[in-house]
Amino acid sequence: MSTNYDIIVIGAGISGASVAYFLKKKGVGKVLMVDRGATPASSNTGKSCAIVRTFYTLPLMARLAKTAVDMFVALPDELGQTGGFHQTGFVQLVPSDWVETTKEITNMQTSVGIETKFVDPAQYEQRFPWMNPDGIGAVVYEPQSGWADPVQTTEAYIEGFQAAGGDVRFRMPCRQLLRDGDRVTGVELEDGPVSAGAVINASGPWAKYLAEFSGMELPMTSMREQNAVWEVRPDRPMPTTPFSSAIEAVYMREVAERRWLIGRGFPKKYYEVDPNNFKESADNDYVIGSYDRMLTRVPPLQGATMVDSYAALYDVTPDWMPFVGPRAGIEGYYDFSGGGGHMFKTAPAIARELADWVVDGEAADDFRQLSHDRVAADNLFHQSFGGNRV
Ligand SMILES: Cc1cc2nc3c(=O)[nH]c(=O)nc-3n(C[C@H](O)[C@H](O)[C@H](O)COP(=O)(O)OP(=O)(O)OC[C@H]3O[C@@H](n4cnc5c(N)ncnc54)[C@H](O)[C@@H]3O)c2cc1C
Repeated sequence: MSTNYDIIVIGAGISGASVAYFLKKKGVGKVLMVDRGATPASSNTGKSCAIVRTFYTLPLMARLAKTAVDMFVALPDELGQTGGFHQTGFVQLVPSDWVETTKEITNMQTSVGIETKFVDPAQYEQRFPWMNPDGIGAVVYEPQSGWADPVQTTEAYIEGFQAAGGDVRFRMPCRQLLRDGDRVTGVELEDGPVSAGAVINASGPWAKYLAEFSGMELPMTSMREQNAVWEVRPDRPMPTTPFSSAIEAVYMREVAERRWLIGRGFPKKYYEVDPNNFKESADNDYVIGSYDRMLTRVPPLQGATMVDSYAALYDVTPDWMPFVGPRAGIEGYYDFSGGGGHMFKTAPAIARELADWVVDGEAADDFRQLSHDRVAADNLFHQSFGGNRV
């Protein structure tokens, strides 16, 4: 083998970019990040809605999301760039039959330091002039949350990684992980083998194939997720915070002047697809269906024009929580994939704790549950609302 690295990271989406950065920050000597794409975030990260919010039912997710918000706020100090983060706040609309569980969730959020509050219905009209209040059980507002530019954030981590001496190779597919018995010893890149003390598999939906080709089970499916961007008529009152409505199962965020992105939330039909062969344009019935649902909640959308639409992939594990960290019985290998619809925001927070785990061999008890070992131990995560909501 020609080159030897301490650690090789596969994937230059937000997961690979942020863990590569934190490994260098912890003083790891030679780190290589490879991606078969030509630029940072060229795959699912680049298509992410990149909403950064903390309304999660699992305490670990709430803790990681809170850490993530703090990290986005501190990004200019950390990396000298904002990552395109807009701290607009985030609004969650819930139906009446969710209100009691939502109180439990906001109490749990508060216990991990998240600022969140129920909005007094008397303030709906003044604070949310865009909103049809029919059928709303409660509105929860998180002032610290917001959204980011997923490409800018990924670029910021990669530039930080390179500034610290990390090597990056784009247009460089990893063909397989090299294994010697129970140890992963490097990777076979398109232009030849490279040895490494450890490999981090942050290749999104394709992580499954790299792992399984090397004899490691990675139970993950790829689900097609569609979004459409709509240009709204001038001078309409529209939401300036991202929001999600659990009543219509839709979400929305501003992307540019007069333009808002609309997506469908859980529950909805998920389409499992082959990540190497799926339809990357959106379906007409999906685009119109999500618009019609949103229109009932946001009447000022009336007359909007669709200006863009596309489909990308969620990498989905059996409990919708990512696989992160080492596995029992395998040396020199770390998972970092399976973030579903949530790992843009949490990836940097996960990456920082994963770097500690890799370098120091230590991780917080709650974080250890993210290991793929939870499958064999029958210790999957259990959430309050089911499906993609975690
Ligand atoms: C439409 C959509 C909306 C979303 N909205 C949100 C949101 O609002 N908030 C949120 O927090 N999360 C959101 N998510 C989820 C979030 O975007 C993802 O969890 C996150 O971007 C995953 O990043 P990643 O780096 O793990 O994977 P990816 O972005 O998929 O990156 C994997 C990289 O690995 C590379 N790769 C794959 N195989 C190989 C190989 N063999 N050799 C070399 N390179 C390889 C790929 O080229 C790719 O660049 C959304 C996702 C989608 C699809």
